[in-house]
Amino acid sequence: DTLTVGQLAELLKRNSSDIIKFLFMMGNMSTINTVLSDDDIELICMEFHCEPHKEIIIEEDDIEEQLGHIEDKEENLVPRPPVVTIMGHVDHGKTTLLDTIRKTNVTGEEFGGITQHIGAYQVNVNGRKVTFLDTPGHEAFTSMRARGAQVTDIVIIVVAADDGVMPQTKEAVDHAKAAGVPIVVAVNKMDKPGANPDRIMSEMAELGIMPEEWGGDTIFTKISAKTGEGVPELLETMLLVADMQELKANPNCLSSGTVIEAKLDKGRGPVATLLVQRGTLHAGDSIVVGSSFGRVRKMTNDRMQEIKHAEPSCPVEIIGLNDVPRAGDVFMAYANYKKAQEIANQRLEKQIEKERNQTSAMSLEDLAKKVEEGDLQEINVLIKADVQGSAEALKASMEKLDVDTVRVNVIRSTVGTISESDIMLAMASNAIIYGFNIRPSAAIRKKAEEEGVQIRLHNIIYKALEELESAMKGMLAPVY
Ligand code: GDP
Repeated sequence: DTLTVGQLAELLKRNSSDIIKFLFMMGNMSTINTVLSDDDIELICMEFHCEPHKEIIIEEDDIEEQLGHIEDKEENLVPRPPVVTIMGHVDHGKTTLLDTIRKTNVTGEEFGGITQHIGAYQVNVNGRKVTFLDTPGHEAFTSMRARGAQVTDIVIIVVAADDGVMPQTKEAVDHAKAAGVPIVVAVNKMDKPGANPDRIMSEMAELGIMPEEWGGDTIFTKISAKTGEGVPELLETMLLVADMQELKANPNCLSSGTVIEAKLDKGRGPVATLLVQRGTLHAGDSIVVGSSFGRVRKMTNDRMQEIKHAEPSCPVEIIGLNDVPRAGDVFMAYANYKKAQEIANQRLEKQIEKERNQTSAMSLEDLAKKVEEGDLQEINVLIKADVQGSAEALKASMEKLDVDTVRVNVIRSTVGTISESDIMLAMASNAIIYGFNIRPSAAIRKKAEEEGVQIRLHNIIYKALEELESAMKGMLAPVY
C-alpha cells in the first residue's frame, strides 16, 4: 500500500502544493508523484490536523468516548476469552478459590513461573482461555468503574456456606448489578460441618439474586475452594454464562485497553499491568496512557515469560512508560511514536491546566479565610512517593502542620517519580516538591533547577515534616 503526495492531498482535501511546501520546509524535495514514507504521512497528518482514512489513529482527547465510539465491523470480530472477577466478603475464600483454579488449570512447569503478582492471570479451562482479575478488595473494581472502565464480563460472588451473606457480599452484588455484569454464585466451604447452602440461597434471593432452581436466572454452584470439590463445575458454569454473552473483539487493529495495576519499580521504572481489550498489542508499540506515554520496551505474561504479542483479554505487564498511570486508565497504541508523544503532551497540558484551575479555586477559598484570619500565608506542596501509603501519610501530616498563620496546601500527592508535569505544576503554583523514597533523574533535577522549582528528597517522614515546619517558621514575618 503506497500513497503519493497527490493521493494524500486528495484524501486530506488539500492542495498538493501545500503538502509539497510543508515537505520542503522539512527538508524534503517532492513532487505530486513522490511516494510518501509512513513517517512522512504521519507528519503531514499531524501538520494538517487530520488522518488518512487508511489508518486508525485517533485524535480526539476524550479517550473513554473514543473507546465507545469505535465500532468494529462484525466481520472483523472474533471470539475472545471472558474476563472474570471474584468478589465476596473477607475470609469467604476468594484467594483460596483463585489459587485452586490456578493450580489445577496451569501446567506444573508454568506454575513454577508464577512468582509475582501482576493483578491478573489467564488459565485454561477445557482448552479455553479465561482471564481472572486478581485485584485485592473491591476498590479496584469500583474505582475502575467510577473512571468509566468496564473490564469484567462475569462476576463470581463467593459466599461461605458456614457463614452467610455479609456486608461485602451485598457490596459485591450492588457492584455487579450496577455494572450490568452477570453473576455466578459460588457457595463455598461446603466441606465444613456447619455448611448450610439453603440459607445462602434464601439470603441471596432476598438481595434479588434468585437461584435458577427456584425459578430465577442465577446459577449457584456448591464448592469447596480448599478441596477443589465443585470447582470444575463452577468453571463450566462460568463458560456457559460467557457463551451467552458472545464476547468478541477485533484483534487486527491498533490496541487499546485498561490499566489493571501500576507501580514504580526501583530498577525498571514505571511498571503497568494492562488488559488488552481491542486489537493486538505488540512489543515496541507506542502507547499513550492518561498523560504518560512510551514504547512497550518489554512485555511479559502472567508467568513472567517475555511475549511479543498480546491479543484481546490478555493481561500483560509492560515497562517503557515515562510515568506511572492509574488503575482504570485507558491505554491506546498509536502507529507512530511522535504521535503518541504529541497526544500525551496535549493531555498533560490539559491536565495541568485543570489542576491549575483547581489550585486557583482553592486559593479563592483560602483568600476568604485570609480575610477572616488576618495575614495567612500558604506553602504549596507537591508530594511524590514510592507507595500510596507514604504519599497519603505525608499529605495528612503536612496538612496538619500549623505554625501560627502559615498553612500547608498539598496540591498533588501521587505515586511515582518526579515527572515533567510535576515540575510544570510546581512552577505554575509556586510549590515545593517533596520526593519520598524516590530518586529523580539527572534530567529532571536539571529541569527543576532551570525552572526554579525546589525539590526536597526524604526517606523518613518526620524528617520531611521537621524540615517543612522550620521552613514555615522561616516564612513568618519577623515580629518586633
Ligand atoms: P478471602 O479473604 O475471601 O480471600 O478468603 P481466603 O481465601 O483467604 O480464605 C479464608 C480462610 O478460609 C482461609 O483460612 C482458608 O483456608 C479458608 N477456606 C477457604 N475456602 C475454604 C473451603 O472451601 N473450606 C474450608 N474448610 N476452608 C476454606
